Amino acid sequence: MLRWVADRWFSIAENTILVVLAYVTWRWFQPSLEEARTLAPGWIAQIYVRNLVLLVAVAGGLHLYFYTWKRQDRRRKFDKRDLSKGTSSFTFKNQVHDNMFWSLTSGVAFWTAYEVLMFWAMANGYAPNLLWADNPVWFVAVFFLTPVWISFHFYWVHRWLHWPPLYRLAHALHHRNTNVGPWSGFSMHPIEHLIFLSSVLIHWVVAAHPIHILFHMQHQALTAATSHTGFEDLLVKDKSRLALGTFHHQMHHRYFECNYGNLEVPWDKWFGSFHDGTDASHAEFKERRRRLSQTS
Ligand SMILES: [Zn+2]
Ligand SMILES: [Zn+2]
Repeated sequence: MLRWVADRWFSIAENTILVVLAYVTWRWFQPSLEEARTLAPGWIAQIYVRNLVLLVAVAGGLHLYFYTWKRQDRRRKFDKRDLSKGTSSFTFKNQVHDNMFWSLTSGVAFWTAYEVLMFWAMANGYAPNLLWADNPVWFVAVFFLTPVWISFHFYWVHRWLHWPPLYRLAHALHHRNTNVGPWSGFSMHPIEHLIFLSSVLIHWVVAAHPIHILFHMQHQALTAATSHTGFEDLLVKDKSRLALGTFHHQMHHRYFECNYGNLEVPWDKWFGSFHDGTDASHAEFKERRRRLSQTS
């Protein structure tokens, strides 16, 4: 587990890139807490546009690279099928347009709303503030603990989203995608965006700096795109340079009732919902599903 955590931070750079991005955003594209004390259209619009640009850059960039320009063909791709066109289950009968629509409307709106709420609460002293000078060790630790907390929160809200009434109402929209692309990750029903992004509310209790909030929210929104790329990693000259999607979540889109979490912490193993794609694991999965269908 320690090696996995170390890999995620030091050799594979996703978390590290996100810390740098949070810093850049905070340093140059963030309204001051002074400004955030009163809700005003100016600074809120600034955050909205910033988030829109970030998502278009990351999800759009990955889409162009892997699907429009096909720079990697099907190497390291989980599912051989192309993204769906002409399927009536998708809004606009087009998977990519459907996914872009839900990500860029509801997704960016809820992402912005949570950030605005947190900055406003911090500016007015409703949510506790943490400064570097208060406790530098803890300040750094919050970065490491954020993905662990997100993973824990995601595992449980995700299981809840599979509760049939809530699934039909909200989460089914995300699961229209059985074969995923970069725009699929953040493509969710507004109710799911509300629930999924609520992990940041922990900072009403745990003191944070605005940069931690940025890291937290960008992690949520942008790794949704990277983790649904549909490819396992980005290859440069046949060498893996950046881990992207996981087979783990790909299996979730294939079989639904397994792998609710991510691989940051092995929640699925600990709570009995793990599927690693082997025959033994598939037999166990079918047995679990049979038991569940008997009890409900
Ligand atoms: Zn998914
Ligand atoms: Zn699901």
